[in-house]
Amino acid sequence: MTSIQRNLFAETSTPWEEDDAADQLVAVVVFAGGPRGTFDYLVPDRLRGELRPGLRVQVPLGRGNRRVVGYCVNVRQGQSEYRRLKEIAALIDAVPLLSPAMLDLAHWIAERYLCPLGQVLETILPAGVRQQRGTRATAFIELADPSRVDVSALKLPAKQAAIVKCLTAAAEPVAREVLLRQAHCSSAPLKSLLDKGIVAQTTQRVRREIAQPEASLRQQPLVLNDAQQQALDAIHASLDDREHETVLLYGVTGSGKTEVYIQAIERVVSFGRQAIVLVPEISLTPQTCDRFRSRFDAVAVLHSHMSDAERHDHWARIAAGQVQVVVGARSAVFAPTPQLGLIVIDEEHESTFKQETAPRYHSRDVAIQRGSREGVPVVLGSATPALETWHEAAEGRYRRVDLPSRVMNRPLPRVRTIDLRLEQQNRQFRGAISQPLSQAIERTLDDGGQVILLLNRRGFSTHIQCPGCGEVVRCPSCDVSLTFYREVGKAVCHYCDFTASPPERCAACDFAGIRYSGFGTERLEGEVRRRYPSAPCLRMDADTMRRHGSHADALERFRRGDVRILLGTQMIAKGLDFPNVTLVGVVNADVALHLPDFRAAERTFQLIAQVAGRTGRGEQGGEVLVQTFSPEHPAVQAAVRHDYEAFAGGELPSRRRFGYPPAAALVRVVFRGSSEELVRTSSEEMAQRLRERAAAAEGDTRVLGPAPAPIARLRERYRYHLQLHGTRREQLADVVQSVSDRFEAAGDVEWIVDVDPVSML
Ligand code: ADP
Ligand code: ZN
Repeated sequence: MTSIQRNLFAETSTPWEEDDAADQLVAVVVFAGGPRGTFDYLVPDRLRGELRPGLRVQVPLGRGNRRVVGYCVNVRQGQSEYRRLKEIAALIDAVPLLSPAMLDLAHWIAERYLCPLGQVLETILPAGVRQQRGTRATAFIELADPSRVDVSALKLPAKQAAIVKCLTAAAEPVAREVLLRQAHCSSAPLKSLLDKGIVAQTTQRVRREIAQPEASLRQQPLVLNDAQQQALDAIHASLDDREHETVLLYGVTGSGKTEVYIQAIERVVSFGRQAIVLVPEISLTPQTCDRFRSRFDAVAVLHSHMSDAERHDHWARIAAGQVQVVVGARSAVFAPTPQLGLIVIDEEHESTFKQETAPRYHSRDVAIQRGSREGVPVVLGSATPALETWHEAAEGRYRRVDLPSRVMNRPLPRVRTIDLRLEQQNRQFRGAISQPLSQAIERTLDDGGQVILLLNRRGFSTHIQCPGCGEVVRCPSCDVSLTFYREVGKAVCHYCDFTASPPERCAACDFAGIRYSGFGTERLEGEVRRRYPSAPCLRMDADTMRRHGSHADALERFRRGDVRILLGTQMIAKGLDFPNVTLVGVVNADVALHLPDFRAAERTFQLIAQVAGRTGRGEQGGEVLVQTFSPEHPAVQAAVRHDYEAFAGGELPSRRRFGYPPAAALVRVVFRGSSEELVRTSSEEMAQRLRERAAAAEGDTRVLGPAPAPIARLRERYRYHLQLHGTRREQLADVVQSVSDRFEAAGDVEWIVDVDPVSML
């Protein structure tokens, strides 16, 4: 009987081996690059007690036991499903870079966005922190055994005795340089002590201090109006309950949302807690930063132009609890605040809160997860909430508070459309600015006001076309037409930066007389300068604002009044607060309207509403003129009447009808590769398996496609995409995960999975 037992156990392990295994300490490790999944390692005795989740470790990997860096995400006592575990080789960090709460959040992100955990961790921790940028390796000396050192008994030479004396007095490790200075000696006596084992040397990384910006002039809280007070009370209520709640602060442009955020944060800071404020990158202007710096002592601003050393410095100060308010773009949602009290997302509808590389997270959703895990409220502010957000509020999952009017009861500006169809019949109309808009500009300039002109297209002309045969000049690597820049005389691809001289003759029919059509901001600038020569004008778009700081400089010139006409892309539509702007012109409202994207109408509505919000902010009031070929389009109509609710009410049913967010969850899979044939067959193959899986799951998960992506070729690679939608998010995730984990695409075909996609091109 016993022998049989023994044999049975031999299949797995002997009883005493099992006891041994129960006692072993297993570390679960993930890698940022390299293999996916989790790996178990044995924690050697010397590292017991030191190894904690959130630390980075060096471990042997693969047949050759190559040393690689991984993240320890769990430590547990007992068995592993693998038999012979390799040992952790070394620890990289002395203290965990990730708190248990952040590790938890990382797990959620990995699951939600179907991304390997290691890659998520690598995103949460800035590169500058991982590489310890801005720190120096510094040697520290300490007594090897402080309890045993009796200087007189050792009979040390004078210099060595001096060193030991300094160390005894210090009672903690002293930096080598400092020690030698204090003991007035060279390194030779120190070396003798090290050789004798009386003192020991360790290395620590020491952070270089980076100068902090000067504090701004301190400003007092404003007296809130009734609506603001009610909004603040609502946030205070959840702050005081220490409970998570998502509050949608739905307030028209200029209704004083920022003042509400600031006063809520004042409460948070008074509890000794910290707040995170997320704003679109483009809104990280000195103006925004000053508003926070003038109200709080310790504000950290995280922007994309920081050096790794600066980023590390901020990160360390935040982690040490020295920062009250963190203001930053998307990734600031990962700020390591030790005692988070509140997260605010301003302009929550902005698409820049979605990351377009893996992990393809949306910081709004991550913020809400983080808030709910840490028991703190999340405030989403917008005049034009994302329909996803609006839907959650309507369903009662978010609390909605409204700021229905502007501060000081300033009226919203009057918005009128100009029908471009009628204008184009007018023979005099050849440029981008119609007669009525031009008259309004002249009037505004005469009255001493300032003008904002929005045209959401860069370059001189958006198409280079042959009038003979209709051929459009395209990028050789991408399926997009080239944009012509007149100043430099080049045709440029906005997707891959391909640049060429524009052809003199049509490549297809040899017709001489290529035509440049479609207006961009460069052309608009030329027209403005010609028509209003005495009004200084400035163009703001991705081409003119390449240098860091140029955006801030431009806004400052506009603020001072040195610039009278500010024209540009959506860059100028967001968040600016200039009381002297009394006219906003939307040069072409239809730019985004006909894109193959289910959010085209929503984007159009948001852009018109936001840019309209840039005027009428002072006592002089303001007006908005919207040029469009589709004045009767519901999105344009709703924007003209400042009627978000009408827009949402009209748009939501069609989202429901077609199974798009917020009525259903959406996952997009994009394929790319150098052979169109292989890209197509691979995507068809995956679609087929997804359909089988979805059918087996018996839910409402549906697969659409595959089809060529709207940008069918990019950087010489063909692109196909497919979509999954359904009301059961977990089912969608299961279906995608189970198929894509085992899927092998043909040739060089690659694919990405985008959960809750924002870009549909
Ligand atoms: P929003 O973020 O809603 O567009 P802001 O917070 O930028 O609005 O406020 C617009 C302007 O109104 C700012 O100049 C701000 O200082 C001012 N403001 C806000 N609240 C008040 C208030 N209660 N009393 C007076 N002015 C206010
Ligand atoms: Zn290109």
